[in-house]
Amino acid sequence: EQDGEAAKRIAAVIPYYPFKGIARFYDITGFLTRPDIFQEVVDIFVARYRGKQIDSIGGFDARGFVLGPPIALALKIPFFMFRKPGKMPNGISSSAFSVEYGKREGMCLPRGMPLHKGDPMMKSTVVKEGDRVLLIDDLVATGGTLSSGIELVRKVGATVVECACVVELKLFIDPPPESGLPNRTKMWKE
Ligand code: 5GP
Repeated sequence: EQDGEAAKRIAAVIPYYPFKGIARFYDITGFLTRPDIFQEVVDIFVARYRGKQIDSIGGFDARGFVLGPPIALALKIPFFMFRKPGKMPNGISSSAFSVEYGKREGMCLPRGMPLHKGDPMMKSTVVKEGDRVLLIDDLVATGGTLSSGIELVRKVGATVVECACVVELKLFIDPPPESGLPNRTKMWKE
């Protein structure tokens, strides 16, 4: 729903944050303090993905780390983190990508949990070939962040079943060519 009453319970709109060029920043942290609304949001995602044969959920640094785990626990599947560059020493990186606020270096997909030195898990990633993965973040604007996750999941031979976000900025689905912003429909065509 576009900025209606239900949407207001989910995200507070803060004008001109983090800088003047961004007219509206959608802040979802408010509903995390309301267990009734937080539960409602989690339940919507759980109902959508239960029984869909999903092997794991990947959440994006940082608000995807808050939304992903309760959904993964309810579905009884693993959760993993896509970390921002420089935060994880032992991962594989995506290419650099554009986001609403500018350019970002690649996102990082973690390796599996090493049980001891020389363990084959050290060489693998948490996502394995053939896995069906769900990606979660709080908000999608240009889609650059989600695309970096899709790139990483595909790199290891797995599939992204769907990307799920609480807020979608429709402005970025097909931005006018003169804006110079990436076109989300085009990015995700294949
Ligand atoms: P994109 O990569 O789609 O351009 O931007 C989405 C990423 O930037 C997400 O990780 C999201 O958390 C963050 N982001 C961009 N705009 C907003 C916003 O208005 N509110 C919030 N909460 N996050 C935003």
